[in-house]
Amino acid sequence: MNNIDIVSNMIAVSNKVVVFTGAGMSTESGIQDFRSQNGLWQQWNPEELTFDKFMSSRSSREHYWGFSRAIWPTMAHAKPNPGHYAITDLNKLGKLDVVITQNVDGLHQAAGLPEEKVVELHGTLKWVSCLTCGKKTPREEIERLMDETGEKAPECSCGGFLKQATISFGQSLPEIAINIAEEKSATCDLFIVAGSSLVVYPAAQMPLIAKQNGAKLVIINIGDTPHDGYADVIINDKTGPTLAQVVEKVKIKFKK
Ligand SMILES: [Zn+2]
Repeated sequence: MNNIDIVSNMIAVSNKVVVFTGAGMSTESGIQDFRSQNGLWQQWNPEELTFDKFMSSRSSREHYWGFSRAIWPTMAHAKPNPGHYAITDLNKLGKLDVVITQNVDGLHQAAGLPEEKVVELHGTLKWVSCLTCGKKTPREEIERLMDETGEKAPECSCGGFLKQATISFGQSLPEIAINIAEEKSATCDLFIVAGSSLVVYPAAQMPLIAKQNGAKLVIINIGDTPHDGYADVIINDKTGPTLAQVVEKVKIKFKK
């Protein structure tokens, strides 16, 4: 039996599957990886984009928005890939508890997964939030406003700074999302890592929490991860085609 069959069998006998997605999922939709050799941090100095810098001066906020707007067109036009749709199908089969994602591109929702099934550890760039009053505005609206007015560092009507609703270096992760992710990791019976090299904490902690609480662990990733030693199955391949094949097999089992 090959690994595709093994993983589809594991899903078939599980009731609460958690899928944990990272940059590998997004790159297969044409979104640049931040950390890879040709990644965005080769072009933009992350030290100029920290949360402290953002808060410190208007020129830093203009720089932040320059970066944010440079990557926005790619993000706005990115489409879900077969991996995203496979996870949505897993939900339709009643197997998926949640997706925990490090990605900020909103592609799980774009693939038809309900909002409440997606735990976004690093926020989302589909929204802009006010750091003072917390008001959220769709990103497209802010883009339009900046185009029309030439504003380079937009502010809220309350006077607060507007920032993409993603987590910057030095900014604390959303506590609610972390708590949900930890709880879901501890209570699932199968945890599937898809396209993450598991190096960013506390996100990378989640598969270990799952494993410590008795779940089976599957890692689908092109490269090695520090947690490979804990995995029941490792598939070193692209996430989209792999997940699509796995979920097709699960569907066949449920048609019988
Ligand atoms: Zn405000």
